Amino acid sequence: MEKLSQKPRHEKDGTFCSPACGGGCTAKEHDIAEAKAEVLARTLGPDWTTDVWENLGWHYAVRSPCGRLTVHPGSANSFIAFLGEPGMIGGRWDEYGDTPQEAIDATVAVAAAEYKQIGAIIEGLAKD
Ligand SMILES: [Zn+2]
Repeated sequence: MEKLSQKPRHEKDGTFCSPACGGGCTAKEHDIAEAKAEVLARTLGPDWTTDVWENLGWHYAVRSPCGRLTVHPGSANSFIAFLGEPGMIGGRWDEYGDTPQEAIDATVAVAAAEYKQIGAIIEGLAKD
């Protein structure tokens, strides 16, 4: 089977979609995703970077300078933050928030609570 190109092509009707996707994505959707990604990155800090990709529509996320946090738009004006190893897609911990910062804070809080719990378990083990 021939592998379809993942390179999106501009068409006269406003479509901007790759053969591998085939979802009829538009240039307008792409531009909106890029603009929203830029606004979200600037909201979180000067060194946050944007990522825009196509998968039956245009999607975006932003990544922290350390690479451990990514923030994506959630449903209904919410955001979801992922925390994991630098450069990882997704993350080990993820939580939603009404704002990007709330999503980040919730995610870090869950990871920190887990870290504390793990610490207590290991400490208890060493005392036995
Ligand atoms: Zn597409």
